[in-house]
Amino acid sequence: MKDENCIFCKIANGEIPSRTLFEDDDFRVILDLNPATKGHALILPKNHYKNLYEIEDETASKVLPLAKKMVITMTEKLGCDGFNLIQNNNEVAGQTVFHFHMHLIPRYNDDNQNFVMKPNEMSGEELDAVRDKIVK
Ligand code: 5GP
Ligand code: ZN
Repeated sequence: MKDENCIFCKIANGEIPSRTLFEDDDFRVILDLNPATKGHALILPKNHYKNLYEIEDETASKVLPLAKKMVITMTEKLGCDGFNLIQNNNEVAGQTVFHFHMHLIPRYNDDNQNFVMKPNEMSGEELDAVRDKIVK
């Protein structure tokens, strides 16, 4: 399942060259062209899924073990101090390329980046209502 108009399909399947860190039958891990920090990488499945809403379970189940392997290796090689894993779904959430990908972003004590969420106040009643909406 490839989409001939999708740049990440072409990169994942080697039709467009990329700085590849890892490749197997299902995935290619590449350096992001405009890195948030040194070593910012993307896990790309070779098949086309728009995002988490569409990725099949078998492929999805392989993403986190691969991310863990990359994080351990990259931490050792780059000497970073931590990692953010980010995975955006749909425009509202910041997705700009509509082929599933997971960002692996090495963090350094002096990297001047900031992925901190803005916390909001919510009452106990409101939190209960949200939980009920999801589980009922
Ligand atoms: P999104 O915002 O969709 O989660 O992330 C898309 C990411 O893909 C961005 O970080 C962007 O820099 C990266 N990107 C976009 N086009 C290319 C490309 O052609 N090659 C590589 N290596 N990265 C790309
Ligand atoms: Zn694609």
